[in-house]
Amino acid sequence: MKISENVEMIDGTMANVYVIKRKDRIIQIDTGMKNNFQKIVQYYEHNGSKPDIIFITHYHMDHVGSLREMVEKYNPVIISSNIEKDYLSGKIKPEKPRSILGKLVYKMMPLLDFKDVMTPDYLNDPNIDVILTNGHTPGSSSLLLKDERIVFIGDAAREKDGELEIDRTFTLDQKAALDSLNKIKSLKPVLVLPGHGNPVKLE
Ligand SMILES: [Zn+2]
Repeated sequence: MKISENVEMIDGTMANVYVIKRKDRIIQIDTGMKNNFQKIVQYYEHNGSKPDIIFITHYHMDHVGSLREMVEKYNPVIISSNIEKDYLSGKIKPEKPRSILGKLVYKMMPLLDFKDVMTPDYLNDPNIDVILTNGHTPGSSSLLLKDERIVFIGDAAREKDGELEIDRTFTLDQKAALDSLNKIKSLKPVLVLPGHGNPVKLE
């Protein structure tokens, strides 16, 4: 689904996967579930392109599920926040969510051992800011495309009935998540692209 001149969403993945087309490279946001891999491959084959960079908003399995397969097929550079990097590498073990469903999903988490994860300064793009929007997980982060004022927020909030709301089931720190949502709004984005649900227009 085309979202703007340079942004698309890959249809049919569990958590939303977005593609940003920059002049010289393609940046993918998150990777969906493991079984979404073929959908992602189909997208790139259809477009005759490939991801140069994969930005991971946070370590949850519906966002990193296809990451291993993506690395094997395309060898992209993986980028995440400084904090989330330690979860992706396995250095820090994820905290168990308090909800019953959260605990159940936690048990299904794949092994995280991605050692070569770069931090956002690798992007070195004056048009992109990466902002820590923690709460959902300790290192959850958002990526702002400054020229289009589009922000990719992972699970900092999800869309429901056209509004942004914080998910209670999987969010580890509700208060921090609320502060982060306010931080996202203070960026004055025109369009918010969440990990779950539809794009939300704010202006
Ligand atoms: Zn999540």
